[in-house]
Amino acid sequence: MATSIPMKTALVTGAAGFIGYHLSLRLLDAGWRVIGLDSLNAYYDPALKQHRLDQLMAHEAFVPVHGKLEQPGLLLDLFAEHRPDLVIHLAAQAGVRHSIEAPRDYLEANLIGTYELIEAARAYPPAHMLMASTSSVYGANTQMPYRETDKVDTQMSFYAATKKANEAMAHSYAHLYGLPITMFRFFTVYGPWGRPDMAYFKFTRAILNGESIDVYNNGEMRRDFTYIDDLVTAILGLAECPPGDVPVGDHDSLSPVAPFRTVNIGASQPVALMDFIQAIEKAIGREARKNMMGMQPGDVPATWAETQLLRDLTGVEMTTDVETGVKRFVEWYRTYYDV
Ligand code: NAD
Repeated sequence: MATSIPMKTALVTGAAGFIGYHLSLRLLDAGWRVIGLDSLNAYYDPALKQHRLDQLMAHEAFVPVHGKLEQPGLLLDLFAEHRPDLVIHLAAQAGVRHSIEAPRDYLEANLIGTYELIEAARAYPPAHMLMASTSSVYGANTQMPYRETDKVDTQMSFYAATKKANEAMAHSYAHLYGLPITMFRFFTVYGPWGRPDMAYFKFTRAILNGESIDVYNNGEMRRDFTYIDDLVTAILGLAECPPGDVPVGDHDSLSPVAPFRTVNIGASQPVALMDFIQAIEKAIGREARKNMMGMQPGDVPATWAETQLLRDLTGVEMTTDVETGVKRFVEWYRTYYDV
C-alpha cells in the first residue's frame, strides 16, 4: 500500500477470522507491524482459525494476542504497550441466524467488546480507527440500492441491532473525543479461507459430499456478493482517508458534528441466490439436489450497495465477478479439504 500517512503499527481485532486474516496478510506484505487479537472462539471450526493464524505467524512482524475483547483491561494494556497508529476492528459475533439462538454472545462481543475497544482508543488515540458494521443494518429498507445516508431504523435481527448500536457508540466517541472513525458496512463477503457458517461454504461442502442443500426464499433472494480481495483493497484504501471536515459530495455520510463516516463496501452487483448456486455447481461440475424452503426469520429479500462514496474516496472498483470468485473459492476448498 502506498501510504501517505506515517502509520506503522496496526491493531487488527479478529485477525484469525476470515476478513481479518486476509487483511492482516495484506498489511504485513505492505510493511506494517500487525498486532492481531482473536479469541479463537468455537462459533465455527477453531482449527480453520488456527490455520489462518499459523500462516500469519510465519511473518516476523505479526504479533498474535489471544484473548477476548471484553476481558477488562486487555485492550487498554494492548494499546498502552503497542500504541497502534491504525486500528481495524473486525472481531465480533457475526451471523444473523445464530443471533436468534444466542443473543448474549452478541451482547458480550459486539457491545461490551466494542465499548472496551473505544475506551482504550480514547486513552491512546490512533490516527484512524475503522470498524466493521454490516449491510444488515439497512433491515427492512426497500429502496435500492442502499445509500449510507438512508435512514436505518428497522433492524431485523439482534445481530443487526448490535451493529447499529456499534455505529452509534463509535459516533459518540468520535464526537466527544475527536477520534477519527470510519464505519464499514460490508455486504456478504466470500472467498478462499471463508466462513463455514455461511451459505456458499455449506453449499460447496454439501454438493461435494453428494448431500442436498436448503435453498431459502426459493432461491429468489438477491445478495450483493463481494469478493474478499476486492473488499480488502477497499479497506486499505479507506484506511488512508480518515474523515476530515469536508464531505466529498452530497452522498457523503460524514457527520456534521464528528470526524465520523459510514461507507458501504459491496460489489454493487446483486445476484440471485439461485445464480450464485449455479456458479458453484459449474465450478464443481455437479448439480445440487435442492430443498426449496421459505424465508428465514431475520433475513431480508435483497441487499444492494450504492458505492459512489467508496469510489470517490478511494478510486477502488470491485472487479471480481461471481463466476471468477466462486471458482477461486471452490479451488481453495478442494485443496484445503483434499476433496
Ligand atoms: P469471522 O467470524 O470469521 O471473524 C471474527 C473473528 O473474531 C473470529 O476469528 C473470532 O474468533 C473473533 N472473535 C469473536 N468474538 C471475539 C471476542 N469477543 N474477542 C476477540 N475475538 C473475537 O467473521 P468475518 O466474516 O471475518 O467478519 C469480520 C467482521 O465483519 C465482523 O465484525 C462481521 O460482523 C463483519 N461482517 C462480515 C460479513 C461477511 O460477509 N463476512 C458481512 C458483514 C459484516
